[in-house]
Amino acid sequence: MTRSKKKSRNNIRKLALDQIKSYFNEIEKIKSDNLPLANRYLDICRRISMRCKVRIPRSYKINICNNCKKLLIPGITSRVRIRNNKKTHITITCLYCKNQKRFYINKNENR
Ligand SMILES: [Zn+2]
Repeated sequence: MTRSKKKSRNNIRKLALDQIKSYFNEIEKIKSDNLPLANRYLDICRRISMRCKVRIPRSYKINICNNCKKLLIPGITSRVRIRNNKKTHITITCLYCKNQKRFYINKNENR
């Protein structure tokens, strides 16, 4: 009995991940024309991931603000800069709440 329960839970997770992926595909298509709808889809994705305990893939998470959970589009809702103090990194600033995200770049050129 427990085995079948586990199996169905895995199935639900797989379905949820598929749905999240399809929503993000849709967001990619409409984000330049219809930003409110894209943000609405993003909200749905977050709800699916919370309810089914599925993580949103990292490649999609880069496009979401950690503070206000809105969609980050370079040049429209976010500012992207390359900075260099001690280490080279990319700074993404959300233009809604001015929250900053940093991504460090590992340079392995000297090796
Ligand atoms: Zn924000």
